[in-house]
Amino acid sequence: MRDPRYDVLFEAVPIGPVVARNRFFQVPHCNGMGYRDVTAHAEMRAVKAEGGWAVVCTEQAEIHHSSEITPFIEARIWDEQDIPALARLTERVHHFGALAGIELAYNGMNGSNLASRVAPMGPVHLPVATFTADPVQARAMTGKDIANLRRWHRQAVDRSLRAGFDLVYVYAGHALGGIHHFLSPRYNQRTDEYGGSIENRMRLLREILEDTVEAVAGRAAVACRITIDELLGPGGISREDIEAVLGALGETPDLWDFVLGSWEDDSVTSRFGPEGAQESYVAGLRALTSKPVVGVGRFTSPDTMLRMVRQGLLDFIGAARPSIADPFLPRKIEEGRLDDIRECIGCNVCVAGDFTMSPVRCTQNPSMGEEWRRGWHPEHFRRVTAPARVLVVGAGPAGLEAAQALGKRGADVVLVEASRELGGRVAKEARLPGLAAWRRVVDYRESQLAQLDNVEHFFQSAMTADEVLAYGFDHVAVATGSSWRADGVGRWHTLPIPTAGLAVFTPDDLMAGARPPGGHVVVFDDDHYYMGGVVAELLRRDGYAVTLVTPGLAVSAWTVNTMEQTRIQARLIELGVTLACSRTVLAGASGGVVTACAFTGRESEIACDGAVFVTGRLPEDSLAADLAARSDDWDGAGLRSVRAIGDAHCPGTIAAAVWEGRRYAEELEASTEDSDETPFKREVTALAPGEQ
Ligand code: ADP
Ligand code: SF4
Repeated sequence: MRDPRYDVLFEAVPIGPVVARNRFFQVPHCNGMGYRDVTAHAEMRAVKAEGGWAVVCTEQAEIHHSSEITPFIEARIWDEQDIPALARLTERVHHFGALAGIELAYNGMNGSNLASRVAPMGPVHLPVATFTADPVQARAMTGKDIANLRRWHRQAVDRSLRAGFDLVYVYAGHALGGIHHFLSPRYNQRTDEYGGSIENRMRLLREILEDTVEAVAGRAAVACRITIDELLGPGGISREDIEAVLGALGETPDLWDFVLGSWEDDSVTSRFGPEGAQESYVAGLRALTSKPVVGVGRFTSPDTMLRMVRQGLLDFIGAARPSIADPFLPRKIEEGRLDDIRECIGCNVCVAGDFTMSPVRCTQNPSMGEEWRRGWHPEHFRRVTAPARVLVVGAGPAGLEAAQALGKRGADVVLVEASRELGGRVAKEARLPGLAAWRRVVDYRESQLAQLDNVEHFFQSAMTADEVLAYGFDHVAVATGSSWRADGVGRWHTLPIPTAGLAVFTPDDLMAGARPPGGHVVVFDDDHYYMGGVVAELLRRDGYAVTLVTPGLAVSAWTVNTMEQTRIQARLIELGVTLACSRTVLAGASGGVVTACAFTGRESEIACDGAVFVTGRLPEDSLAADLAARSDDWDGAGLRSVRAIGDAHCPGTIAAAVWEGRRYAEELEASTEDSDETPFKREVTALAPGEQ
């Protein structure tokens, strides 16, 4: 059972009229499901309540059609029609004994209103400040608009109570909640009583907070989520501003939820910020209010959590990502199972779900987003229907996840790995600059395997088809990974390019310790995720002159979805990497590469001693192919199925490999790969009554 040192984390804490059963608080977070995947969303939150969180919140919920953030999929509470969907969520969260919170949001100049088409509103006339840079401006709110907003917010509070929420948020954070724009001198240049001094800039916050407190009338708690420093010096919300806000309004809500800067700052990836990155900003603020305070910091260590409470920094341990990676984190601490915690790696693949308007996914937790539609649970596994002996070849993320999930299902599993270590690509990539935390994908699975008597693993065993057939397994999963191509084939080139005379390397070569000759390397990034930027950083730190050539408009362009792109580009510029965006490499020869402008095709040469191609990958599927070619021998060997999984099936992200490992284990008895049926539940929009 739990270590008594952590007792303080399990104290009940009142929040106004309600009581949280412990100090674990799942703060609002986006999930790409929102109003579209209603039951999936409800079930995802329910699993967190089951996992022991005292408070489980929605993501931001749009309160009115005049402020919506299409194409992004968030919760909605525009009118009566939205109540049943949210009531389903609160019911499920209550079922597991947690409080349900809703983050009411009027995004104002952060939404383009692409669906409702009405002009967005903000403190002043300014182009909307969205991730999508839509050609839309927000108009300055008049006194009537402010009165309307206050009424709409009160109405949304009323609907929230009728949906069963115990905690209602006023959202003034991340430059996403519209009240933030009024607080910030960056956006608020009004000359009336809502602009200028901090007393004026906080007027809208004061009014909406007071309205909300009055509207809930003690039937729920009121929380305020606020940016405590916009990280822009006097040009944005500053420490001085926030101290003034707490001085004036510190006692108005029942709880303060502190966030840092914009969402990119608050949810910084592990490549750019450590656990507890917000600490120095939060320090000292709790003393300015008697109300409980929640804050985040990608907390996964119970000792850090304890310190936050003991040192008086926080009353509640807030978590978005750690609760995604491990919905059962509180229960595991409570049960003294610290080794079972699946620690967030800080990769922001979850955030990318929201950015790509797809259901949330997580590198560490393959059941995230699949709780309802596929019936996957982060901790519970269905027993296999009949005894099964399964061989898993390859101990990368796909093989490790398949082996541990199969083990938990009760199969007899043998995991064989050609090299001397577990982890495959993750073990290797975690040694690249900034990616050390990714190692946790291996650590969690290694600790699970150690607890499973029915899973054995062997190193330095490169399996051949002959060996596989000789051992008499029922099922074989081929999780042998993939390798980066050296022939330039990727997005831009779908056929190999000439490179004779040039020393061409791949990320695999670099991870194996090889380095290009000479002093100047061209990195050709046609992958657009993290690897090109990471490789450029590695080589630059090794002392090379590095030119990064990419057909993308920016380096590591896809990382806008993990909110890292600006940080990556800044880091490479600071390191002195020469950036050649919107260019492609056409060919390599001794002494350099020929490049072309991605728009005009105009060619120019870059002299270099070697190149690293970060383009496409090919699956290592030879074992699967050899076994398929010998299908006549399967019966004799007792072999019933062979499937390639993870990168050996189709190279993808680490998250995709982990997910495939889980799917393999779930579908051991009956794969849905060739199914005519949709293999998961989905919610189809109900038709409005037809016009007669
Ligand atoms: P994935 O991301 O799909 O899990 P990885 O490339 O991370 O793939 O891992 C594949 C693992 O499989 C590597 O650790 C590699 O050493 C191992 N491997 C490849 N071929 C064989 C083989 N024939 N027998 C055993 N292990 C293999
Ligand atoms: Fe953490 Fe990555 Fe999972 Fe998000 S996707 S919760 S950052 S491990």
